[in-house]
Amino acid sequence: MIDTAPTLLALDFDGVLCNGLMEYFQTAWRVYCQIWSHPKAVPPEGLAEQFYRLRPVVETGWEMPVVIQAILSGVSEPEILANWVAIAPQFAKAIGLSSTEIGNQVDDTRDDWIAHDLESWLALHQFYPGVIERLQQLSSLHSVIITTKEERFVIQLLQQQGIAFPQSQIFGKSLKQPKSQTLRALLQDLSQKTANPSIWFVEDRLKTLQAMTAQPDLSPVRLFLGDWGYNTESDRKTAQLDPKIHLLPLSTFVADFSLWV
Ligand SMILES: [Mg+2]
Repeated sequence: MIDTAPTLLALDFDGVLCNGLMEYFQTAWRVYCQIWSHPKAVPPEGLAEQFYRLRPVVETGWEMPVVIQAILSGVSEPEILANWVAIAPQFAKAIGLSSTEIGNQVDDTRDDWIAHDLESWLALHQFYPGVIERLQQLSSLHSVIITTKEERFVIQLLQQQGIAFPQSQIFGKSLKQPKSQTLRALLQDLSQKTANPSIWFVEDRLKTLQAMTAQPDLSPVRLFLGDWGYNTESDRKTAQLDPKIHLLPLSTFVADFSLWV
């Protein structure tokens, strides 16, 4: 049977609801300047746009400033997209830092910025067109946000847009568990209340969804790759060929559920 609406809608935050690319770049640039002793000047023309295009390769925070170093060292975009897993550690090694050390600098820089100028930090986040209206319509449906961001920032960003999303429905960084684990727990919880519950999960990172397709107990979770987020043309092609993943355009995301599948 094909469900026409989910029992529960689960949404990723960054790259699905909110575009945080400007913040990612600004934080990455600050850390890049510290690590590679670059005099703090304005970033070179076009660097931000290149970084935005390459954002999908970043899996964890430490890679953000390394992407900038790779670009400025002349590594081509196709090369970064194709071989990032091999390229990134070489740049870390060259400067004599571990991924943990770089990651800590990224976290510290961001924390420091937030502590001293929360307003300017929040201002670098933008919700995708139509998303806020969609969230307003969803108030009657059970929905949750599953994110690697800290809950308090999600709440703050939504509040700025007039959305009061209950804290109990935001599963963020403090959980310290993979999204698959959160979905599994939600599914178990729903199963006790409803027969044959379905969760629809919208995420922009292909690898996260692919890992879930390999977990049979998550089969009641319908997986959607939001094509407007941080993914590449090749990610979207791969998703289209995967029978377990639905490619979802933003125009459909903001429309009725019956159009999703
Ligand atoms: Mg995301």
